[in-house]
Amino acid sequence: MELDLGDKPETVSVLLPIPAERAYSYAVPPGLTLAPGDYVQVPLGPRKVAAIVWDSPGDDEVDPIKLRPVEQKFDCPPLARDMRKFIDWLAAYTLSPPGMVLRSVLRAPGALDPELPLDGIRFSGGEPERLTDARRRVLEVVAEQEGLAWTRSGLANVAGVSASVVEGLQKQGIFEPVLIPPAPVVAKPLPDTVGPDLSEQQQKAATLLVESVETGGFETCLLDGITGSGKTEVYFEAIAAALDRGKQVLILLPEIALTATFLERFEQRFGAPPAQWHSGLAPRMRERVWRQVATGQVRVVAGARSALFLPFPEIGLIIVDEEHDSAYKQEDRMFYSARDMAVVRASIGSFPCILSSATPSVESRVNAEAGRYRHVRMDERHGDAVLPDLDIIDMRKNPPPRGKFLSPILTDAMKAAVGRGEQALLFLNRRGYAPLTLCRVCGFRFECRNCSAWLVEHRFRNQLQCHHCGHSEPTPEACSNCGTLDHLVACGPGVERLAEEVDETFPDARIIVLSSDMLGGVNRLRLELESIAKGEADIVIGTQVVAKGHNFPLMTCVGVVDADLGLANGDPRAAERTFQLLSQVTGRAGRVGGKSIGLMQSYAPEHPVIQAIASGDREAFYEREIAMRKSAGLPPFARLVSIIVSALDKREAESHARAIKLAAPASAEAQILGPAEAPMALVRGRYRYRLLVHAPRAFDVQSYLRSWMSAGPRERGSVRVQIDVDPQSFL
Ligand code: ADP
Ligand code: ZN
Repeated sequence: MELDLGDKPETVSVLLPIPAERAYSYAVPPGLTLAPGDYVQVPLGPRKVAAIVWDSPGDDEVDPIKLRPVEQKFDCPPLARDMRKFIDWLAAYTLSPPGMVLRSVLRAPGALDPELPLDGIRFSGGEPERLTDARRRVLEVVAEQEGLAWTRSGLANVAGVSASVVEGLQKQGIFEPVLIPPAPVVAKPLPDTVGPDLSEQQQKAATLLVESVETGGFETCLLDGITGSGKTEVYFEAIAAALDRGKQVLILLPEIALTATFLERFEQRFGAPPAQWHSGLAPRMRERVWRQVATGQVRVVAGARSALFLPFPEIGLIIVDEEHDSAYKQEDRMFYSARDMAVVRASIGSFPCILSSATPSVESRVNAEAGRYRHVRMDERHGDAVLPDLDIIDMRKNPPPRGKFLSPILTDAMKAAVGRGEQALLFLNRRGYAPLTLCRVCGFRFECRNCSAWLVEHRFRNQLQCHHCGHSEPTPEACSNCGTLDHLVACGPGVERLAEEVDETFPDARIIVLSSDMLGGVNRLRLELESIAKGEADIVIGTQVVAKGHNFPLMTCVGVVDADLGLANGDPRAAERTFQLLSQVTGRAGRVGGKSIGLMQSYAPEHPVIQAIASGDREAFYEREIAMRKSAGLPPFARLVSIIVSALDKREAESHARAIKLAAPASAEAQILGPAEAPMALVRGRYRYRLLVHAPRAFDVQSYLRSWMSAGPRERGSVRVQIDVDPQSFL
């Protein structure tokens, strides 16, 4: 388009979904009115990209005469101001370019144009020239649903004929063309349908949450209730209150693919399911959900962490279910905690946020105790369900038989449960057959060639696999080091190996093995979980996919095969994670009534975390863990930022990490540890070094890091520098 060079053109700043630190300036063509939040198409080099008119000034260095014009404004409700503030806030906090954050918003490009009506047809009367069987079937279908509009392919499918039959009928004037308006992806949920009768404790909790919604304004509530206390029923009341006030609601779930039961419960309560948002959505569905959130047609979304970036115009409540779950932390390209960002989003939008968990994160407990969050507790199970009796099996005194992994105490308890027609669950957070394979002759250990990790034997697939990069190779018959045949040994158990042992001990039992990498994927997993709930298995063996939020009414015996796993590494959250995982797993038992037990096999039964879980004294655990974090100066009593430097060449990674360290501005408050080789020193062929910044809570780490990084060496060659504010992983 031509610009009148005589006049200084009107300009607008536009944020593009690219890793740029700031918005760019574009010229506004005459006749176009633009305001912040408008979705526009702009030229970028030879490309055309969808972007958003931004509030902050654009790159003002460009000579206004040379500015390129905005090409088009999309017919889409603008991105709300709160959302734009949220993007800027998140970018500043995580030290990501705002354009990278914007990328998460613009994830459904086709959604920027209005949904088009579908071309359809409707029966207009008359008789076909020749009434074939196929034609008769079509006419029977339309006669049943008089006046209904069909798509041609839809009608052909229902009638079981080919599309050409329908087309033929249309040519004869039997059908007239009509436009079918786009349908909503989900029906509107009805807030005033009634939920179950709440117990006194549940009612009290619900009243507090509803009050928070009705008062309006920002508040974070920590819904801290034991497994089975009815947290979902309780926060449904808060959702109903928000819907009643005309607000949209976002529910974040850690593992959306496994939440079929959640969706069903929601539908039972509200008459319609929530819209779903996760990476598994088909592209077209993705666009429709996005669009209908933006237009306000969708009122409730249940989604994974990326749902935080949906363009809600009227959001008034966010729920973070299982708020302690580490799946909320994104560690890929952008590093952020969706739990923390949900709280920020609510604060910017001045509405409440509910964090729900049976085992809250230490951070959230500290915030609740400091009065920053409203603490809503529930310590009773619903109805006649009681928590399982928990016990530790001291493996030093009650070892398993040679070559086995289950103590006789555990197998006896399983026998008793199965004998009563109930179910037993064995939990082991290790996929595959064995975590390590070695050669008995030379001691060679099979390691991944791209990662510092052992290859895990998957006997069923006859493969050795790396669980970090996905590398796999056929299980060899001979040692690749010394060449000796048939002398490889599997060390330690994975769920497959456990299944072998259980099969020998319980030859008649129906056994199901569940892990996230099973054949058939998420759908198969969902079916298996349903069949377990129906009692179609006697013994379930699973990794952490079984730990999360499922209801197994017949499960009365839960065995934790290796309670010490996870306590041994150098992660400051190891104790907390173990506590959460084991509490969730043992909480699978006894959800409906009757006696149940949870047994934990341990070689260190005196460990305080194991003791805390076994005694059922969760308060003691939090007290001790919080005191420990405080005295050690660990989060949330201090700030941590980790800087990961990686490169294809080891020396290059190391020298770059050292150069970064040298560029650190002097500070009396920030302490820099490292660089040191990362515990996972090699991942996907990249060598890794880590630096860790430790600073007091009140310290402005972002400003510090910004001036540090601008003074430090630039990334070059294969070197990459990643900054992780509030890191969860120290590997
Ligand atoms: P939590 O999320 O705290 O583990 P849930 O909300 O999943 O607990 O509730 C556990 C089970 O108890 C669910 O099957 C739920 O339907 C049932 N339940 C909880 N509260 C009630 C109630 N007031 N009336 C009927 N069933 C309830
Ligand atoms: Zn690997």
